[in-house]
Amino acid sequence: MIYDVIVVGSGFSAIAVTCNLIEQLPVSAKVAVVGDDPGFGRGTAYRTELYLHRLNVPAGRMSLLPHHPDDFVDWLKSRGRQLQAGDFASRSDYGLYVRDTLARLLRKRDGRCRVDFIKAKAAGCVERYASTLAFHLGNGDEIAGKNVVLCLGVGNANLPVDPAGVPPFLRSRIIENPWRLSWLRRVAPSDAVCILGSGLTMIDQVLALRAHGHRGRIDVLSRRGLAPLGHAKMPPAPLPIDVERLPRTISVLLKTLRGKSREVADWRSVMDGLRPVTQALWQRLSSEERARFLRHALPWWNIHRHRVAPDVFAAFEKLVSDGTVRFHAGFLKSLEAGQDRLVAGYRVRAKREIAEIGADWLVNCTGMERAGLSHSPLLKEMSRFQLIVPDPLGLGIQVDAASEVMAPSRSSSARLFAVGALTAGQFWEITAVPDIRVQAKTVVEEIVRARPVSDA
Ligand SMILES: Cc1cc2nc3c(=O)[nH]c(=O)nc-3n(C[C@H](O)[C@H](O)[C@H](O)COP(=O)(O)OP(=O)(O)OC[C@H]3O[C@@H](n4cnc5c(N)ncnc54)[C@H](O)[C@@H]3O)c2cc1C
Repeated sequence: MIYDVIVVGSGFSAIAVTCNLIEQLPVSAKVAVVGDDPGFGRGTAYRTELYLHRLNVPAGRMSLLPHHPDDFVDWLKSRGRQLQAGDFASRSDYGLYVRDTLARLLRKRDGRCRVDFIKAKAAGCVERYASTLAFHLGNGDEIAGKNVVLCLGVGNANLPVDPAGVPPFLRSRIIENPWRLSWLRRVAPSDAVCILGSGLTMIDQVLALRAHGHRGRIDVLSRRGLAPLGHAKMPPAPLPIDVERLPRTISVLLKTLRGKSREVADWRSVMDGLRPVTQALWQRLSSEERARFLRHALPWWNIHRHRVAPDVFAAFEKLVSDGTVRFHAGFLKSLEAGQDRLVAGYRVRAKREIAEIGADWLVNCTGMERAGLSHSPLLKEMSRFQLIVPDPLGLGIQVDAASEVMAPSRSSSARLFAVGALTAGQFWEITAVPDIRVQAKTVVEEIVRARPVSDA
């Protein structure tokens, strides 16, 4: 079967694209959504069942459809949740909302296009018949489409050291993918846990450990030992920022932003003022300045920009202040076995000395640091056939301003788009719902505008 549009992925991005396709394509159109995740719509972020795993964006900005901004808040109300637009809902509720929204659109049977959900991994891709791209699926099937939207999310970064020397009985205590929360059931309350990486994923894991009865020590190792900051209980108004007047070099830009932060009562108003202009700001930077930002400013950007809900922050801070969670700044150099325990050796930041952390468990929470193409066999193969080209900073793949994949060697007329984190090289700030939902709508409008659909 040749589809008008194939959406590859099963997380938020794929469902946002699919919802827009259902709304905009004519009844005659045929769409396939290919995803390897059991729950279409939940992806990595919204699969959790823990209430303390909360959204880090207020409910009022989390509608799946940008043209219905109150949609999520209305859904929460319809479910009897006592939450307002400024509150932080649970991620589990958000996953249900995404699935409900899709189901609501699919129920309009007579006025919508055909959508086939195919639970499979897209393993390879080739150009076919000069007008389509065809995907080999893990179940042995092949499907072809005139338009394709890649919505693959970010992968899990690999451990920075090879644990080959660790014997198997300890190897099973290295958690490479913390998103499969089943590992928590194997942890004894007094076990010592070492978490690698100190971003939002780390906070999630600490809170999940506590919820599962863990009361032991948690050591957190990251390059700078910085952890995400919290949202204010009463958010300050965003400071209006004119992107045209901002400097184009990172060092002067940071100095300017620091200066602005000192002039306002709460630095968050500067960060929130930057939000609507971040993509434009990124696009004004040369590739050298973008690389400089990633080398020097990224950890600072992350902790100020990607903040956690106020009560989540308070719960985490309590564990830091009572000594349950301890931070270490340095680079992991080795992972070995020592007397029934894992021993992580790291070079202490800004020093020559090597220190060690002994733990019963090591959890890799460096995953949201962008893993580029390396995590995905599909992307590696598409790159080998020159259907996609990695972006120069290794953030994802090269796309143009309309999110269409730029691959000069491609010969077929099929159109290939990407949505979400894969397009960070072009847009930078494109990993959260408020940005992805706009991108998803724009990509679908572009597909519809070109009228690829047989009798549209
Ligand atoms: C823990 C966590 C919390 C977050 N919290 C928030 C928040 O509060 N607010 C917010 O706005 N954003 C948040 N985010 C950002 C989040 O990444 C986005 O909101 C959004 O979920 C991204 O969805 P996605 O579909 O692009 O990626 P993903 O959710 O990663 O989904 C990609 C999907 O594609 C599938 N896939 C990959 N390769 C293939 C293949 N070859 N074949 C078939 N299927 C494939 C994967 O299995 C996966 O299901 C959070 C992220 C994480 C990890």
